[in-house]
Amino acid sequence: MAAADVSLGNTEVRDLTRIERIGAHSHIRGLGLDDSLEPRDVSQGLVGQHAARRATGVIYKMIQEGQIAGRAILLAGKPGTGKTAIAMGLAQALGPDTPFTTIAGSEIFSLEMSKTEALTQAFRRSIGVKIMEETEIIEGEVVEIQVDTPVGGGDKTGRVTLCTTEMETVYDLGAKMIEALQKEKVGAGDVMTIDKASGKITKLGRSFTRSRDYDAMGPQTRFVQCPEGELQKRKEVVHVVSLHEIDVINSRQQGFLALFAGDTGEIKGEVREQIDLKVAEWREEGKATIVPGVLFIDEVHMLDIECFSWLNRALESHLAPVLIIATNRGIAKIRGTNYKSPHGIPIDLLDRLMIVSTVAYSEQEVKKILSIRCEEEDVEMDDDAIILLTKIAMETSLRYAIHMIMAAQLVSTKRKGTQVEIEDIKKVYSLFVDIKRSTQFLMEYQKDFMFNTLGEEDDEDS
Ligand code: ATP
Repeated sequence: MAAADVSLGNTEVRDLTRIERIGAHSHIRGLGLDDSLEPRDVSQGLVGQHAARRATGVIYKMIQEGQIAGRAILLAGKPGTGKTAIAMGLAQALGPDTPFTTIAGSEIFSLEMSKTEALTQAFRRSIGVKIMEETEIIEGEVVEIQVDTPVGGGDKTGRVTLCTTEMETVYDLGAKMIEALQKEKVGAGDVMTIDKASGKITKLGRSFTRSRDYDAMGPQTRFVQCPEGELQKRKEVVHVVSLHEIDVINSRQQGFLALFAGDTGEIKGEVREQIDLKVAEWREEGKATIVPGVLFIDEVHMLDIECFSWLNRALESHLAPVLIIATNRGIAKIRGTNYKSPHGIPIDLLDRLMIVSTVAYSEQEVKKILSIRCEEEDVEMDDDAIILLTKIAMETSLRYAIHMIMAAQLVSTKRKGTQVEIEDIKKVYSLFVDIKRSTQFLMEYQKDFMFNTLGEEDDEDS
């Protein structure tokens, strides 16, 4: 395949990993930080875990400013302390234009391709290419021109919008328009029309300042951004695709349909080299920019020594995303070796990481998280029932308690209740055992092969 053949195929290609479901983290809408990136106590679905969220806020800022491509962050902490939740919050905060890929360490081994190919694909999924195109303005179209101009008689600058259908006006305004604007009483957010012949500006109102309103004006609408009076031809963003999507589209064996099937197979090194060259060319011509995204690898201790060494090298590439890894392991064996290391991660990779640790939750925080989950799952729960569920979470685990919510709702519906009450929680607690009880039963089972008193014991426990 020649470099010139590199194509984007179907422009409708969408990032399939972004489909949202009501899942374990669907209540998370962001990192819950204020403008100065300080964590709010409870915000955007996230509760407590201040230090970790503050640190992630700094990472968020650095990613946004494009400062930390190729860096790696480790989220370390006990199970159920919100490591994945925080990573999801970061993905939400960065927004849909920043590619964010999530995989579990174990996935690398379950795909029908080599481990390093699977990692390469995950890396390239996390690098976005923003492709831009110049828009031609056609005579007769409504053209909106946004201008930063002095407003309110002071030294403040505000953005106003001018509408015109005249081609000449669009290209010919410059300083003349600014001058006219200064004579008028113009406020930030005002929308004006300009008459070509007289240069007279008329205020239309202050209504369409948000992009939603531009969309409502239909396909005839174009706007030209014009900072400090410099008119520019508008560069329109066509779409953001990932490097991996470009790889698949241009891979002879696969073709773009493989994107939908999810079965992309291995991609040849030469294809990737050609694509990197082509993208570099587009960047030089100002047609494309790179959007370094984030690759999140959960359960990173499941990777083996070969994967770790691949990661070490790959992070040095100029096209590396920000790597966030999470683990709940302490000192553990590095997979594929007999050596032990903190978190089961080799020292040389650990040395590159910025480590963020998560801590156990207080009872109040657990209660709040459970209430948020009830809301998310649309479950009405009595206050006493939440208090009992919180106690169970403190005794067993947050995850176990979260899983009880929906089950308790079903039990409540079965007895025709309007909301979940203490009895429903007790019932579910007796039906489904947590790890502690399960282990205890297993030991009893091993000892005397008997466990038929299970139901009664549970009721007493609860
Ligand atoms: P593991 O080490 O077992 O993978 P984890 O640290 O990744 O655990 P999560 O999966 O993030 O833990 O948390 C368990 C559940 O609790 C998830 O549903 C998560 O969304 C929720 N959760 C955890 N922490 C918070 C928090 N601070 N605010 C809101 N929800 C949270």
